[in-house]
Amino acid sequence: MPRDHVVIVGAGMGGLAAAADLARRGAQVTVCERAAAPGGKMRQVPAGTALVDGGPTVFTMRWVFENLFADAGESLADHVELVPADILARHAWRAGGRLDLFADIERSADAIGVFAGPGEAQGYRDFCARSARIYRTLAGPFIAAERPSMLDLVRRVGPHGLPDLMRISPARSLWGALADHFQDPRLHQLFARYATYVGANPFFAPATLMLIAHVEQDGVWLVRGGINRVAHAIRGLAERQGANFRFNTGMREIFVEKGRVGGVVLDSGERIAADAVIFNGDISALPGQLRPVPATAPAKRSLSAVTWCLNARTSGFPLAHHNVFFAEDYEDEFTSIFSHRRITDAPTVYICAQDRGEGSVVQNGAPERMLALVNAPADGDHAPMDAASVADLERRTFGLLEDCGLEVERKGAGCTVTTPEGFEKLFPATGGALYGRANHGSTGSFARAGAVGRVKGLYLAGGSVHPGPGIPMATMSGRLAAARLLEDRAGRRGTVMFKVS
Ligand SMILES: Cc1cc2nc3c(=O)[nH]c(=O)nc-3n(C[C@H](O)[C@H](O)[C@H](O)COP(=O)(O)OP(=O)(O)OC[C@H]3O[C@@H](n4cnc5c(N)ncnc54)[C@H](O)[C@@H]3O)c2cc1C
Repeated sequence: MPRDHVVIVGAGMGGLAAAADLARRGAQVTVCERAAAPGGKMRQVPAGTALVDGGPTVFTMRWVFENLFADAGESLADHVELVPADILARHAWRAGGRLDLFADIERSADAIGVFAGPGEAQGYRDFCARSARIYRTLAGPFIAAERPSMLDLVRRVGPHGLPDLMRISPARSLWGALADHFQDPRLHQLFARYATYVGANPFFAPATLMLIAHVEQDGVWLVRGGINRVAHAIRGLAERQGANFRFNTGMREIFVEKGRVGGVVLDSGERIAADAVIFNGDISALPGQLRPVPATAPAKRSLSAVTWCLNARTSGFPLAHHNVFFAEDYEDEFTSIFSHRRITDAPTVYICAQDRGEGSVVQNGAPERMLALVNAPADGDHAPMDAASVADLERRTFGLLEDCGLEVERKGAGCTVTTPEGFEKLFPATGGALYGRANHGSTGSFARAGAVGRVKGLYLAGGSVHPGPGIPMATMSGRLAAARLLEDRAGRRGTVMFKVS
């Protein structure tokens, strides 16, 4: 029997995970990736002579990756060194105040008590319990399983889980539900920021996104040598199972023959026949006849960003690995982006100080590698930022850091700036949106496509499809696409579900 040939377009987390699983299960796998290296958004960016992780920095849900390796008879720990972060993130406000959140809930509650009083500390404990409940309710039937409809979800949780499902408040916004726990506006702002992890506006995102707090509480890991090592490790896993990778290889067409996918045409004109294709790009980049749901309209896109990858000296503020600097008006930040399509005058700034944390220190006066990020509207395809507005944003961004006490010596430092237009070039048809469509409203989580394309033999994986963005989720989407494909080839229709550890 000839083996099925599966072409995977894209070596982002979804494509990599699908390649590893399919090759392990006996398929002949060819991965075509436009970039020169694996990882997609998990990319390394030059900053002078240094390389900076310019995409994801917060590594969570380690079990997703452990299970991927364990299913292939290997151990993640043999390929990637993960160090648990003691400080989850350091937060600072221009108006004053600094707060660390820790891996230990009671330690965080104590810090919150000192920062904002005992009532807020108790509010935090209640919030943690609620976010854990939401996670437990949704992890198996939603995150680790094929895309459900609302009705499927009710069926999957079963009669015992129904009360929990009712309690997770899908009809309330994250911002609204946080008021049940926090009176201090700074804490309200801090915990609302979790919506941005999936590129959403906390004022429109469902309260279910509180589960992200639990995901962090469950463990944030620093990856020794940089997070990009995770992508290389999964590529290695897939290769050991027999997958073949072709880098610098763009795909321009998925062709259809006799009503099913016949293969792909590369940018070079080469035709590769395939029994099935998994597309790991953003779903909006697929032609309409292949897409099971419409392309994401610009107004429905998730957040984009402006990022600075820097190798610079810092002083004046004790940076942790993850740091967030807040200005005052959070609502304006999101109204500006989602309604007025502009960046607010004083955006929140995230800094990943990559050479710091858990045993790593920066020598006094030495330059250090950093990713600085502010949220931006995903209009890179039709309203690119000009050089003057990027320079103005840079002044305001680093001005906020200075107001919080952090000096970043940018003069002479290596720096690469990426705007929404830059992200659109890297990830076409997105406008620079980094997380697919924005998860807004009570049905937002169900609006993403599942793993199955509209044409037989076409499957979808990545942050723009179920279960959504973030490196563990995109990895899970690749596993779901591979499993669905194999079930279809075997003529089985049952729901694919992975185990949650
Ligand atoms: C700045 C930034 C910060 C982030 N922070 C975090 C974080 O802290 N934690 C977290 O969990 N997540 C974070 N994310 C989100 C996370 O990185 C993504 O959700 C995840 O990596 C997406 O994986 P993916 O499978 O969708 O593939 P992608 O990363 O989107 O990669 C898709 C790949 O497909 C290739 N491709 C597409 N079309 C073609 C074609 N036609 N031919 C050939 N190749 C093609 C692309 O070149 C690309 O390499 C962040 C993202 C960014 C950009």
